[in-house]
Amino acid sequence: MGHGLISDDIIDQIRGRIDITDIVGHHVSLTKAGQNLKGLCPFHQEKTPSFTVSPSRQIFHCFGCGAGGNVFTFLTRLTGASFPEVIRDLGQKGGNRSA
Ligand SMILES: [Zn+2]
Repeated sequence: MGHGLISDDIIDQIRGRIDITDIVGHHVSLTKAGQNLKGLCPFHQEKTPSFTVSPSRQIFHCFGCGAGGNVFTFLTRLTGASFPEVIRDLGQKGGNRSA
């Protein structure tokens, strides 16, 4: 994955400040399923939730369409923004965005 001009330090800082369940929870209605959270996948049409978020691993995975990754992957795929745009956006929000 090419990060362009953004240093790994900044990415790590942001990653440490945000929680994937917060970010995904703004876009997807999540319910608890054991260790994970489940919801309807935003990347394909489905009636039964197969979209899973793991708070402990800070990743998401969809068993329906195979989408998966970390919080940055989620936002780039969902919003169509580039990786640097997502990083900048998250940096500005400071991870304390209220819906
Ligand atoms: Zn899916």
